[in-house]
Amino acid sequence: MGFWKSAKNYSRGPAVILAGLLLVVFLPVILPIVAIDHWLSQRRMLAKARVFACPACGAVIGVEAIRLAEEAWGSHMAEIHRKNPGSRIRRSPQRIVRHLHAICPHCGARYQFIKREKAFAAIGPNSW
Ligand SMILES: [Zn+2]
Repeated sequence: MGFWKSAKNYSRGPAVILAGLLLVVFLPVILPIVAIDHWLSQRRMLAKARVFACPACGAVIGVEAIRLAEEAWGSHMAEIHRKNPGSRIRRSPQRIVRHLHAICPHCGARYQFIKREKAFAAIGPNSW
């Protein structure tokens, strides 16, 4: 009888198992979709960068702008980790939302790629 009493405590078990099973079944479907979506938006961003003329200086920003933003973002993240060692970052994920996607290699103007509009929008010099 003790078994039935303790089984009551595990009544959420089936739901957890079901959720776990669904995750295992759908993960192989979701992951490629997320990866393809990311890959497609990267491609769109690169394609746009090749033709986008920087409103600040008039020159086409090109693929180099994306590379510069990657570099800047990398050192920005390293800086955040250096200033906030340990778990503090995990508690404030909103600070790690990325807006910087391109930096004009000619004048240093910064741009965010708006996925929905497939366009670059200028952001401030202190925006990330
Ligand atoms: Zn420029």
